Amino acid sequence: MSVPVPFLDLSRHVSVLKDSIKEKLSAVVDSGIFVLGPEIVQLEKQLAEYCGVSYAIACSSGSEALLMALMALDLQPGDEVIVPSFTFFATASAVVRLGGRPVFADICPDSLNMDPEDAARKVTSRTKAIIPVHLFGRSAEMERLEQIAKAHDLALIEDAAQAIGAEAAWHGEMKRVGAMGSIGCFSFYPTKNLGTMGDGGALTTNDPEIAKKLELIRGHGMAPRYFHKIVGINGRLDAFQGVVLNEKFPHLDEWTKDRQEIAKRYFELFAGRRELEGRLQLPKPEGEERCVWNQFCVCVSDAADGHLRDRLMAFLAEKKIGTMIYYPFGLHEQECFQYLDYAPEELPVTYRVSRSILALPIFPGLTLEEQEAVVEGICAFFREN
Ligand SMILES: *Cc1c(COP(=O)(O)O)cnc(C)c1O
Repeated sequence: MSVPVPFLDLSRHVSVLKDSIKEKLSAVVDSGIFVLGPEIVQLEKQLAEYCGVSYAIACSSGSEALLMALMALDLQPGDEVIVPSFTFFATASAVVRLGGRPVFADICPDSLNMDPEDAARKVTSRTKAIIPVHLFGRSAEMERLEQIAKAHDLALIEDAAQAIGAEAAWHGEMKRVGAMGSIGCFSFYPTKNLGTMGDGGALTTNDPEIAKKLELIRGHGMAPRYFHKIVGINGRLDAFQGVVLNEKFPHLDEWTKDRQEIAKRYFELFAGRRELEGRLQLPKPEGEERCVWNQFCVCVSDAADGHLRDRLMAFLAEKKIGTMIYYPFGLHEQECFQYLDYAPEELPVTYRVSRSILALPIFPGLTLEEQEAVVEGICAFFREN
């Protein structure tokens, strides 16, 4: 019997930080400053520096960050925003919350990121913005998307919720995600590479006007107190979450390196396994971008109906090996988006990938022995099926 492998264990890498986090949380209790405050100011400074942008604005979640970004751009009812269908729900729901219309683009089979050419085909006179997602920690094709956005005068908003620290080639240099579009959106949900102990998010931008507007939006458009310049939301982040993030931030690069090592080890362990040939697709090698591996997803071939993938998942669960499906459907298939009138197979790559994809354990502290158990489990399944 092989070792059990959790899909995700958030306690391993933070165990050494527990005491210092508790101490700082206790200091916040004594300080009486619970919402925004110095911890959040420090977080914003660190994040701006880390991403290589002029401004970072912390907020209550990645979902609210996306909403605030579209509010800052004055999205109007009826405006169209191009988003990938293969992403987390919030990328599209932010558009709908403002009365806009999400227009779903397909993904590239290799990167699993938005297909820029499909996005280009979907631009209309009502299109206001494109929101590429840096899915699973890998940067979208930002240079090509910028060309499209420029040609049609569209805003480019990055959904960087899964990709803090990821880099891509950008006009002759490497840039971090969140520094390429007009606004970058981050999430600090516990499962992200920099996760807090609750909800949290942030926005990045180089534009001082947008930064000012985002800060206004975060606090009900109020400046000074009880004078509302615009209609905003309560998008504030609390000091407890700021403490956790400030304690963790200095370790982010080391944890990212760990994720990259784990990904490399998966490639090595899977290499040359005959039983997997033509049956299991590993993530395609990166191009010029540098991936931070929020997820390591494989695709099970010949599983157009999803059954083989689901059977593999059950087989591994039996061996106490945790896996997850990100995402089992494209957003265009969701009940709440049926009014947009997409046929399921209208986005063929999204449709195919969603039926065959499986996320394997990857997190700082995952051991070689555990990785071997994952790979052996998968190989055993394909020998028997
Ligand atoms: C997690 C996530 C979000 C939403 O972030 P929350 O902090 O959970 O609201 C948005 N987009 C993507 C791609 C995500 O993975």
